[in-house]
Amino acid sequence: MERKLILYNTLTRRKEEFRPINSGFVGMYVCGPTVYGEPHLGHARSAIVFDVLYRILKFLGYKVRYVRNITDVGHLEIEVGEGEDKIEKVAKLQQLEPMEIAQRYTNLYHFFMDQMNVERPSIEPRATGHIIEQIEWIKKIIDNGFAYVVNSSVYFDLENFLKKHDYGILSGRKVEDLYENVRNLPNLGEKKNFYDFALWKKASATRIMKWPSPWGEGFPGWHLECSVMSSKYLGEVFDIHGGGIDLIFPHHECEIAQSLAYSNKMPVKYWIHNNLVTINGQKMSKSLNNFITLEEIFTGNTKLLSKSFHPQVVRFFILQAHYRSVIDFSNDALLSAEKAFFKLMNSFSLINKLKFEDKIESIIEQYYYKCLDDLCDDMNTSLCIATLFDVSKIINTHFYNSIPLTINDKIFLEKIFNDIIVNCLGLKPIEKNYERNELFEKLLQILIEERSLAKEKKDYETSDRIRQKLQNIGIFLKDYKDRTEWEIK
Ligand code: ZN
Repeated sequence: MERKLILYNTLTRRKEEFRPINSGFVGMYVCGPTVYGEPHLGHARSAIVFDVLYRILKFLGYKVRYVRNITDVGHLEIEVGEGEDKIEKVAKLQQLEPMEIAQRYTNLYHFFMDQMNVERPSIEPRATGHIIEQIEWIKKIIDNGFAYVVNSSVYFDLENFLKKHDYGILSGRKVEDLYENVRNLPNLGEKKNFYDFALWKKASATRIMKWPSPWGEGFPGWHLECSVMSSKYLGEVFDIHGGGIDLIFPHHECEIAQSLAYSNKMPVKYWIHNNLVTINGQKMSKSLNNFITLEEIFTGNTKLLSKSFHPQVVRFFILQAHYRSVIDFSNDALLSAEKAFFKLMNSFSLINKLKFEDKIESIIEQYYYKCLDDLCDDMNTSLCIATLFDVSKIINTHFYNSIPLTINDKIFLEKIFNDIIVNCLGLKPIEKNYERNELFEKLLQILIEERSLAKEKKDYETSDRIRQKLQNIGIFLKDYKDRTEWEIK
C-alpha cells in the first residue's frame, strides 16, 4: 500500500499506522444491532462510520472480510447477564414468536441502511445460528478454569481470570470501579462475585428461546456471541474490531476476557469506537422522550423535526463530524446539513458545464490528494468535507465567471467526485433535487427569458413576481451584466 492509513486504537490510546496481520485479507468485525426495535440514529452512526472505513480499506486496495453480527438472543436488560431478554420481552408484548421480532427488525435495519447507502457486510452471522460453537467455547473456558457452573447457568470467573490476566484494558479502569453501578442489583446470589458475567443462562419455564446444553436447557450470554463468531470467520486474532463507544464496557472488555480465557490470545489488533449521538444536547433515550427513529427522520413524522430529511442528508450530517466526536442532532443541524449537502452536489453537477483549456497544470490535483490524506488520517470525514467545499468554491467561481480550468483539472474533479464523494464517503446525488435535466433547464430558460423581457419593458411587477415564485420553490436567480444564472438552494 502506498498510502498509509492511520487509525486511533482505543487499546493503545493513540493513533497508529494500520498494518494488516496477514497479506491475505483484512478481518474487520463490527458489533451489529440487537434486533428488537426500530432502527434509530445510533444504529445509523455506527453503520455509516464503519461503512466508510470498509470503503476506504477497499479503496486502498485491501481485500476486506467484513463481519457484522445480528444479536437475536441473549442480550439481557442488564448487560452483565440479568433481567429480561430484550427480544423475548418485545415478542411477549406483541404476542409474536421471538424469531418474528428478530426477523422484522432485521428487515427494517437492512431497509434503512440500504437507503443510506450502507454496504452490506461480507458475512452477517446471527447468534442463534451459532449456539453449538458457543457451547464449545464455554466448555473450553470451564476446562481452562475461567468459568463455573451454578444451578444450570455458567458464569465467567473474573476472580480466577484476574490472577493471570488484566481486565479493563480498553476502558483503562479497574474491575471494581467498572462494576460499581451494578453492585446493588438483586439476583446476584448464585454468582461467586458480583462482577462475574453470564456465559450461559438457565432458561426459565416460560422462556421460548432455549437450547439443550451440557448444563441443561438455556441460552448464551450476549458477550459470548461476538467472541465466537469473530474468531470463527476471521480467526482467533484479527485486524479490526469496531462498535459504538458505549460497547467498550462491559461488552468489549468481556470479549477480550473470553478470548484470553479461551485461547490465551488477545483477539484484536485495532479497536475502533465511534462516539454517540445526542439529541438537542441530551443523551438519546426512550425515558427522556427524545428517542428518534430513522423512519421518523425520513418521513418527518416527529415533533422534533419541522420536515422530513432524505437518507443521504442524514448520511452527510453524520459524516460532517469526526467519528470520535459526539454529534448533536437537532432540527437546525439537519437543516444546515441539508443546505450544505445540496450546495456541494450542485457544484459538482456543474463539472460538465465548465470550460476546459488544453493545458497540463492543475489547481485541483492537490485537493484530490488532500481529500485522501484527510480520510487516511483516522477517517477525518469532517476535514475531507471541508476540503470538498474548497473545491466547490473553485467550481462555482469558474462556472459563474466563465473562467476555464484545464483538462487535468477536469480529470481530478471527476476523480474527486467518483473516488472521494461516491466511493469512499458513499454519498449519492439525489436526482430529484439536484440533477439538472434537459427539459427542466429549457423550461427554466423560458421563464428567465420572460423575466428579462418584462424587465426590458420596465414591467417590474412581472419580473419580480417570476423571481419570487422561483425563489419560493428553492430556485435562486443571479443577474450578471450579460446573463442570468440560477442555483438551487
Ligand atoms: Zn458485539
